[in-house]
Amino acid sequence: MAAHQEKKLAQERKHKPSQNGTQTSQVQWGRAWEVDWFSLASILFLLLFAPLIVYYFIMSCDQYQCSLTEPLRDLLTGNKHLSDIWNKTPTLTYRAAGIYCLWVTFQVVLYMFVPDFCHKFLPGYVGGVQEGAVTPAGVVNKYEINGLQAWIITHVLWFANAYYFHFFSPTIIFDNWIPLLWCANILGYAVSTFAMIKGYFFPTNAKDCKFTGNFFYDYMMGIEFNPRIGRWFDFKLFFNGRPGIVAWTLINLSYAAKQQELYGQVTNSMILVNVLQGIYVLDFFWNEAWYLKTIDICHDHFGWYLGWGDCVWLPYLYTLQGLYLVYHPVQLGTANAVGVLMLGLIGYYIFRVTNHQKDLFRRTNGNCRIWGRKPEYIECSYMSVDGTKYYSKLMTSGFWGWARHFNYTGDLLGSLAYCLACGFAHILPYFYIIYMTILLTHRCIRDEHRCSSKYGKDWKHYTAAVPYRLIPGVF
Ligand code: NDP
Repeated sequence: MAAHQEKKLAQERKHKPSQNGTQTSQVQWGRAWEVDWFSLASILFLLLFAPLIVYYFIMSCDQYQCSLTEPLRDLLTGNKHLSDIWNKTPTLTYRAAGIYCLWVTFQVVLYMFVPDFCHKFLPGYVGGVQEGAVTPAGVVNKYEINGLQAWIITHVLWFANAYYFHFFSPTIIFDNWIPLLWCANILGYAVSTFAMIKGYFFPTNAKDCKFTGNFFYDYMMGIEFNPRIGRWFDFKLFFNGRPGIVAWTLINLSYAAKQQELYGQVTNSMILVNVLQGIYVLDFFWNEAWYLKTIDICHDHFGWYLGWGDCVWLPYLYTLQGLYLVYHPVQLGTANAVGVLMLGLIGYYIFRVTNHQKDLFRRTNGNCRIWGRKPEYIECSYMSVDGTKYYSKLMTSGFWGWARHFNYTGDLLGSLAYCLACGFAHILPYFYIIYMTILLTHRCIRDEHRCSSKYGKDWKHYTAAVPYRLIPGVF
């Protein structure tokens, strides 16, 4: 919720116990100040293995027709050595470096220098300058929301090129996929390292920085909360949305073009993946102002997790279904295709309506109607670092009365639909649903830990009123 919408009732100084049972110190909310051994072990594991996991998946498609077991079998039986696989891997090329630099520069230009005009003619769309949530230090950042416009311009140019100008082939992304992976990694590591240095030497807001003293944890989870260059270049908003999410639909289009080139047709499974993921991406940009109130922007600091994740993990692993379908052009029977479409749309509906209900509830401070009735809620309070006390509300109506994270449940149903579109011949396209289940379950736990420290006994009242997390009656 934006700071101006919250009732700032009292100025109470730091480190006094609050009425809701929480401590008003900096340990109260936001990411950890101290690192336990499990978090550290997980972080070291991810820093070491996440880049290898991405490489393994992409290489498996390139060299083994998307089989995840064949490379391992080859290595274990001595049929191949690591060096054989590595030597067959395409290297960084000048062409890929040029494409990638142009791509990122173009997105920076759209982000920084083209103020939003979509909100002037699209009814219901919220764009232009918007406020983020109040940070732990009590700061409210302003953002230029112009992602929808960037997405539209980029895709109009893509189609104009594909059907009219023919400056480059629409298969360009697929054709340079591994050389582009090296470029994405260079940017991912560069931006994460820069963010770390910036956090130490020239932070945008020193009060919102967190140092655990553990180099690896700080590098991974970030020091600065909202690093910026100048007034408007916000690292979190830029790197997550573009190049990450604008690229998602372009990458899928490139896969569809490759299917057309290789087989003379685009299969219905490829169309389903393009359409369902396209809806998800468009939804993200249509609701970019809402995104300012999600955990990524409100609670996560900017480190390798977001920087490298947005540059490499997201564009490479979220698009695995389309990549798989280039190698295995699955044509679904009508009943299966309709089933996948329905599952995807139901998942999207739950995801969107749940997120919308919370957004509406928070924007109107509870003065709205959810499913035709005045929403029920639990009153709660918390403190920012400077000791200011704020009041908030946790809704228990609509989908938020069914489970505490029903938006995640919708997201998971949609994710499952993308995977099912690929049939059952290989495990690789199912990576997405496995990963999303781990990500969102972990996110539930992480978020609830934070909310519990933030709201204290008020959070306990809420969890008593809504006892399940994802599936009513089960979990
Ligand atoms: P939420 O939008 O669910 O936000 C959680 C926050 O909402 C809590 O920290 C709390 O914040 C507030 N809140 C919790 N319960 C209530 C309630 N009952 N009433 C009012 N406010 C409440 O989580 P995310 O930001 O993680 O996710 C947003 C969406 O993005 C989800 O639909 C998720 O599926 C999707 N997502 C997708 C990812 C992907 O990679 N595809 C990754 C992550 C998320 P406060 O402190 O303000 O009270």
